[in-house]
Amino acid sequence: MYRNSFKTRSFRPRNDGGRRSFSQNIHPSKFINKASSVNETAVFKPEHTFRDFNIDEQLKLAITKMGYETPTPIQDKAIPHILKNTDVIGIANTGTGKTAAFLIPLIDKVLRNRKEQVMIIAPTRELAIQIEGELIKFARDLKIYSVCCVGGMSIGHQIRELRYFNNFIIGTPGRLRDLIDNKKIFLSEYRTIVLDEADRMLDMGFVNEMRFIMAGMPKERHTLFFSATVSSEIEKLIKEFLSQPIRISVKNRDTSANVEQDVVKIRRGTDKVDVLHGLLNKEGFSKVLIFGRTKHGVEKLSKILVGKGFKAESIHGNKNHVKRQQALRLFKNNHVQILVATDVAARGLDIADVSHVINFDLPATYDDYVHRIGRTGRANMVGKALTFIVDNV
Ligand code: ADP
Ligand code: MG
Repeated sequence: MYRNSFKTRSFRPRNDGGRRSFSQNIHPSKFINKASSVNETAVFKPEHTFRDFNIDEQLKLAITKMGYETPTPIQDKAIPHILKNTDVIGIANTGTGKTAAFLIPLIDKVLRNRKEQVMIIAPTRELAIQIEGELIKFARDLKIYSVCCVGGMSIGHQIRELRYFNNFIIGTPGRLRDLIDNKKIFLSEYRTIVLDEADRMLDMGFVNEMRFIMAGMPKERHTLFFSATVSSEIEKLIKEFLSQPIRISVKNRDTSANVEQDVVKIRRGTDKVDVLHGLLNKEGFSKVLIFGRTKHGVEKLSKILVGKGFKAESIHGNKNHVKRQQALRLFKNNHVQILVATDVAARGLDIADVSHVINFDLPATYDDYVHRIGRTGRANMVGKALTFIVDNV
């Protein structure tokens, strides 16, 4: 059985968007891009099939049940190395199947040695929960135990779960650090660690927590490091954390290449909400993710849209965890047409078939922009992104 149900109590606003200063410095031309049709992208020929991998037969069965037929490029290249216990740096865009790239070989590792304990660190609680969700799907019948340690949820519950043996701890840096400080997690027990979306963690100001956790881990360990971008800061962390790593980069195209991007010019004096209203009534706007800058603005916009008769939900740091998960579920399952979100709340989320991403407010950085529009056009589909630009002339 899994011990992974949680209760929500308090919310700690540490990870929410709007913290960085907002800039209008991105040139509008960067928001315009014709999507290259999916057919133009060379078809990837994996070297391996899941069957080829030297992994447990039951795990292979679980992969088939998940509907995964062939490995994605990062899975194809990383899994054989991870299976050999080599440290791996995986550089790959969002939506390329990184989660399974580390989960599959690590589940296999646990199946070979039931005493193995793996720690996975992800930047946001939604991502941590998403990873645990995928783990549960793979390992449903395999008697593998996991616990998810993220902020905004009852620490007491997590502490109780930590009294039991867990093969996988999945958590966010801040909460993990608290639990380590309180001697509820003993880093010396973990010989395998995954840093997922390391660049995001850095962006979010978790560098001290990352260093603290890595410093407490045994020197002899297996370290996997995933990042979409490689800055000099990231290189520094790689040098500090990994030992003789293999570097795998499968960034052969921009994530955004298959997202059709355009701007919507808003004349001064025009209400952005009216323009949005017009768009949302158009054909094809079936599953729309709208980004706003502040928690308050996001909440307000979603209320306005509901007032106008749309089915809309919102996700931002002022909502408690249960409400956030609920909003996400309603959107994922197509019970609402619209999800209004702040940047951080939506980071890395995997939602199928988002027809449009609308930047109601400009993103603070180009990086945030790429992240936002990466929520559409997933799994090689063509997506659409529209960015509202207020015309000041
Ligand atoms: P990333 O972490 O790189 O952003 P995810 O691990 O969230 O990407 O995967 C994106 C989506 O692709 C998920 O819905 C996942 O279930 C799906 N996926 C991953 N690997 C495969 C595969 N080999 N075949 C089909 N779908 C896959
Ligand atoms: Mg991921």
